[in-house]
Amino acid sequence: MREEIYVLRLGHRTERDKRITTHVGLVARAFGAKGILFIGIEKDIKQKIDEVTEMWGGPFETQIIEKNWKEIILKWKETEGIIVHLTMYGIPVDLIIDEIRKDKRKKLVVIGAEKVPKELYTLSDFNVSITNQPHSEVAALAIFLDRFYMGKEIGLKFSDAKLTIVPTERGKKVIES
Ligand code: SAM
Repeated sequence: MREEIYVLRLGHRTERDKRITTHVGLVARAFGAKGILFIGIEKDIKQKIDEVTEMWGGPFETQIIEKNWKEIILKWKETEGIIVHLTMYGIPVDLIIDEIRKDKRKKLVVIGAEKVPKELYTLSDFNVSITNQPHSEVAALAIFLDRFYMGKEIGLKFSDAKLTIVPTERGKKVIES
């Protein structure tokens, strides 16, 4: 079920954004992206996300790239596929998601931290809003992936998991393998 969707996190502020950048990675994995690209972040953030993949399964790829955002975007457009930028100024997700889903090219979903460069709006194939209100990249990414997969990502199975939860009404049941 997992499609060729990768996430690019732009504008991580060292130390200040550590927790939210980690959460962006965990949401990308849990909600069905194949991987996440970070630009020049602290290595322990990648390590934390990789540890989750190791314990709870994958596949999920975490990469730190030492290039600038524009080089990454231009290379993606030239060799991989399309850019979907999540922004409160974009087209409402429910109006555009069918078109994005029908496009079978690989997708790079770009989310910011603070203000993103203006040029990103023109380089992106789709600028998509998840409401036209300001909120969070974590919420925007989760809702985008959920709309893209039409809710099916909730039941996503992960391979090579060392830990798997057996859902129970009360308490915690975890199988180790
Ligand atoms: N003031 C910033 C701006 O002008 O872009 C907002 C930064 S917001 C905290 C961080 C990121 O969350 C944004 O770059 C965008 O990717 C995502 N985001 C926030 N609200 C959104 C919305 N309503 N729709 C889509 N994405 C949103």
